[in-house]
Amino acid sequence: MHFNNLSTKEKFVILDKGTEMSFTGKYYKFDANGTYLCKQCNAPLYRSSDKFDSKCGWASFDDEIEGAITRTVDADGIRTEITCSNCGGHLGHVFEGEEFTNKNTRHCVNSVSINFMPLEITKQQKFERAIFAGGCFWGVEYLLQKEKGVISTTVGYIGGTTTNPTYQEVCSKTTGHTEAVEVYFNPDEISYETLTKVFFEIHDPTQINRQGPDVGEQYRSEIFYFNNYQKEIVEKLIKQLENTGLKIATKLSPYSEFYIGEDYHQNYYKRKGSKPYCHFRTKRF
Ligand SMILES: [Zn+2]
Repeated sequence: MHFNNLSTKEKFVILDKGTEMSFTGKYYKFDANGTYLCKQCNAPLYRSSDKFDSKCGWASFDDEIEGAITRTVDADGIRTEITCSNCGGHLGHVFEGEEFTNKNTRHCVNSVSINFMPLEITKQQKFERAIFAGGCFWGVEYLLQKEKGVISTTVGYIGGTTTNPTYQEVCSKTTGHTEAVEVYFNPDEISYETLTKVFFEIHDPTQINRQGPDVGEQYRSEIFYFNNYQKEIVEKLIKQLENTGLKIATKLSPYSEFYIGEDYHQNYYKRKGSKPYCHFRTKRF
């Protein structure tokens, strides 16, 4: 398993056991159905069905996925710290006896420590995370989700300068974000290398700031890597493609905050029962 690189803010909470400001976390008011994974190692930690609004300012859960959470006495000697059982990353604290719910337990979790996946799972599973931008996210998602081993896909925005951008803002080309697809996959069924090859074959990586009829920096080709393992694979594949004479426009960048797109953009072609106009498979490897 390849751990994800952490940003300065993520290191402060996950490694140095810091606390994010109350009422500021991405998941404090978030109530979609799915599973929350560890930001550092992608281990499934909490189910959305166990999430409740405690109004305390942080994401709250009254139960955990079995075996996912480790409890220890906090450095303050009073509270109980909770960490990811797989990687030891700091999540927050757990409190009992507050009577918020029948389970009488509140896992008070920093949003910075977790990431949401729109799929409800029942047990510990192995995941890795990838983010690809290659033009209209409807088409990229449609083709990537067909691959065996791809567990969930989410379309959204990444790589810009503002927080929580809307589709209209991204289209206005003032925020710097690109449309992108976040993928969780089972590395035992599909490797990051195979998945990335698929990505290079379902869009045209030679086009700069456009993909067919869609023109603008929000349609650029870019891969956001989570760790050096992913970075090295992308560099290798770009070299391979360049050796075939292609001039690759795909940018390679460390991941930054991924903002989930509006509901009406998710699974667009699957829901409509139609096919992409701008993305199709072309053999390049
Ligand atoms: Zn972890």
